[in-house]
Amino acid sequence: MLKDSYGRVATDLRVSLTDRCNLRCSYCMPPEGLDWLAGPDVLTDDEVVRLLGIAVGLGVTDVRFTGGEPLLRRGLTDIVSRASRLRPRPELSLTTNGIGLGRMAASLRDAGLDRVNVSLDTLDPQRFASLTHRDRLADVLAGLEGAAAAGLNPIKINAVLMRGLNDDEAAPLLRWALEHGYRMRFIEQMPLDAQHGWKRADMVTADEILERLRPEFDLSPVGKRDRGSAPAEEWVVDGGPATVGIIGSVTRPFCAACDRVRITADGQIRNCLFARDEFDLRAALRDGESDHALAERLRSAMWAKKPGHGIDDLGFLQPTRPMSAIGG
Ligand code: SAM
Ligand code: SF4
Repeated sequence: MLKDSYGRVATDLRVSLTDRCNLRCSYCMPPEGLDWLAGPDVLTDDEVVRLLGIAVGLGVTDVRFTGGEPLLRRGLTDIVSRASRLRPRPELSLTTNGIGLGRMAASLRDAGLDRVNVSLDTLDPQRFASLTHRDRLADVLAGLEGAAAAGLNPIKINAVLMRGLNDDEAAPLLRWALEHGYRMRFIEQMPLDAQHGWKRADMVTADEILERLRPEFDLSPVGKRDRGSAPAEEWVVDGGPATVGIIGSVTRPFCAACDRVRITADGQIRNCLFARDEFDLRAALRDGESDHALAERLRSAMWAKKPGHGIDDLGFLQPTRPMSAIGG
């Protein structure tokens, strides 16, 4: 079991398959991009699958492939297929910007992918180009259509709202998602951009997101307000069955119930998005350590997890790695 010293158990593993990306979302990457990891530094497909097997043996039930942009990983379909043969079989999901998903959705579903989250912050092509520094909105929308046609369900849309840039799109995004049968989720912007430019005052908070939705939709909380380890507070829209999720990682942290652990594309364990310490699995893997020894490394990395992200602490320091190299 992957337990920390506060009694939380990690069952949700996020594996970054690359730090490369074909977009430059301003809350994640600078317009000029970043230096990518060198090929040999990135875990091979065999190394990834071996670590997944060890993690599943330690009680991980959910594996999410992320990045950078995971669709850029050449071996993605094969990794998904091999992961789907692990026992007990984990739930397999993907977080992607959607570019190229149309082409790959059917083979990913056939390989065993269960669910997909697509990140999309605007429905306006010019705004998309200015927020991501790439004119690719049509490709994202085509990717979404391909995912739906391939039968991937549910399809969740993740949007980060930014003050003065796209915060007027909360209601239009939700309306569009309802029309297409996608599940909309809004995420507070976190201090994880490579440029270290995050300012609390610029963040559109969960409360503000609700304020922007309420004039147009009737929202009632789903069940009890206790969301367990789920990051999103879910709201029933206009009497249901559709819902909208709001992930207030900064103003409504869910650290006390966190069940996540991450492995970066270069094989570093991160026990928290905001961790400043990492635990090297790659060197151990390549030094020929046994599965048992690697499992012990995962266990001790989890034990060291801090109680919370500490964004409100006076001494808070943003992690050196940006979100694109951690994997959301
Ligand atoms: N490239 C894929 C994508 O965009 O979905 C996967 C990697 S991306 C780092 C994963 C998620 O992190 C996306 O939903 C993105 O919106 C989110 N993200 C990136 N930087 C963020 C930030 N500073 N605050 C909140 N969410 C962020
Ligand atoms: Fe790329 Fe995803 Fe970061 Fe956007 S959020 S720059 S799509 S890794």
